[in-house]
Amino acid sequence: MDHKEILRHYGIRAQKSLGQNFLVNDDILETIADSVEITWKDILEIGPGYGALTEKILARKPRSLTLVELDKKMVYILQSRIREGDIIIPEETIFTIIEGDVLKYTPWESSEISQKRSNLNEKWSHSSPGEGLSKWIVQNKYGEWEAEFWIQRTSFSEISPYSVIANIPYYITSPILFRFLHELENKPEEMVILMQKEVGDKICRKKWYNNSYLSLALEFSCETIEEVCLVPKENFIPSPKIDSSVLSFKRKKEYDTLRAKQFLKITSAGFTSPRKKLLSNLANTLHISKEVLHESFEWLELLETARAEELGIGKWKELIEKIT
Ligand code: SAM
Repeated sequence: MDHKEILRHYGIRAQKSLGQNFLVNDDILETIADSVEITWKDILEIGPGYGALTEKILARKPRSLTLVELDKKMVYILQSRIREGDIIIPEETIFTIIEGDVLKYTPWESSEISQKRSNLNEKWSHSSPGEGLSKWIVQNKYGEWEAEFWIQRTSFSEISPYSVIANIPYYITSPILFRFLHELENKPEEMVILMQKEVGDKICRKKWYNNSYLSLALEFSCETIEEVCLVPKENFIPSPKIDSSVLSFKRKKEYDTLRAKQFLKITSAGFTSPRKKLLSNLANTLHISKEVLHESFEWLELLETARAEELGIGKWKELIEKIT
């Protein structure tokens, strides 16, 4: 079935409140899937919808694919498509659908995956779900659906590397990036995310865009940030008002939580009133004496009239070192 047939067959009506704009260009879907190493890797897809990108991911045979989808109806459609053989799950892939909000989801640990593997044909013991977790629906390799159950959380001692792929609603782009690249203990190695083109341009500082709190926060935790492709609005059903772009984030191996917290706190203070002078923003928000700030600016050869957006990440780090 092509995309229009799927939409018709399942009577899918896009819900605006859930940011449902379905990407219907197969070449672009392939490009997105090609931009991540998938084969024999653990992959998390956020907001699979009826599974357009999911199919491309599965064709590349991941070790495991976990989908997190908030819309019950989409979860039902995904299950139906799998049952009807319209989406094929490779034998070697552990496939899980989680119905719930990705902002409340904590990615799995490797021990959890091996636990699933070894227990697929056994009875599952039920335990209470973790905070914010909703039900898990797993298909075993014989295509049978396991009963709904709660997976027991295991310790964080064995952390499994994984990558995230997502065509997500525009309004949760920033919360998702912050959650996965700063807040979670188990952060992905790589994320490929479709977003509003303007946000992508700001992150990559394309056009006239200078530094922003978001671009600096992402640069802090990433080795590389690259634009994978542009996605003109006509490639979606329904078509949004604006174009999109797909960005790839490769995370740095090291993450110093304390330094990150300090960096985020101080840069965010610097951007409180982006049009105002950085010096005043820092003095007013962090209550640092103006004397210390004047001295530090002079030492770093920063103009006292400088705005937060004028400082690149290197200068920010030097400034933070000087004032803390
Ligand atoms: N990936 C599909 C595609 O490319 O056609 C659908 C993309 S659509 C832009 C976004 C999807 O994210 C929808 O299926 C929507 O229901 C889901 N979604 C919205 N908010 C979510 C959340 N907080 N957690 C998980 N999924 C969410």
